[in-house]
Amino acid sequence: MARLDRLLANLGYGSRKDVQALIASGKVVLDGKVLKDVGTKVAVTSDLPGRMTIKGAPIDPPAPLVVLMHKPLGVVCSHKEDGERIYDLLPRRWRIRDPGLSTVGRLDKDTSGLILITDDGDYLHRVISPKRHVPKTYLATLDRPLTGLEGPLFSSGSLMLEGEEKPLLPAQLVPLDAHRARLTVTEGRYHQVRRMFAAAGNHVLALHRERIGGVDLPDDLEPGQFRILSEIEAEAVF
Ligand code: URA
Repeated sequence: MARLDRLLANLGYGSRKDVQALIASGKVVLDGKVLKDVGTKVAVTSDLPGRMTIKGAPIDPPAPLVVLMHKPLGVVCSHKEDGERIYDLLPRRWRIRDPGLSTVGRLDKDTSGLILITDDGDYLHRVISPKRHVPKTYLATLDRPLTGLEGPLFSSGSLMLEGEEKPLLPAQLVPLDAHRARLTVTEGRYHQVRRMFAAAGNHVLALHRERIGGVDLPDDLEPGQFRILSEIEAEAVF
């Protein structure tokens, strides 16, 4: 159970004072009844968005929240780096939720595609854990034609990237045409896909993530758009 004013403040609807004023003005409704007492105890369950409204709109889901986004080119996944951040594409109030949201791993500024964003630390660590080997599939567009040697090199389990101490785990390459291939990796090393193709004497011109585990980027999700995943959808990663 959570105090109503604390719950709304943690969801980013404003400061404690702001949300107390919101409640007092009769804008918060639970199961059809206006809640006017800021100290009302509310059971924080995942069905809350179907039962509670704020100014007539369904309340945002409480934690844990897992969001799937189509990351556009040119935005950064870091909270700190300069430039447009992925978090700027989310509703403003989500930026002040407590617990805060983080991307599950990162995509480079010039990589597009599927990224997950969550406030669930346990989920985040399960997805990126090096022990789980969650597969990630990328579509790479290459500067030079594929030679046919990339597949055996990437699947060998002995490819060593510059500056690293351990070889890469085997990765699967599916050539699509002379300049495009689908690559599935089970690790998340820094600039991994670009560095793999560089090690094969090629250069990645464009990189797009299509899939993480059992979760695909939906075809109808435009760059910058996002959607909240149900628990079952989020668990389909594993
Ligand atoms: N590999 C890369 O090189 N960049 C990404 O953004 C993701 C994987």
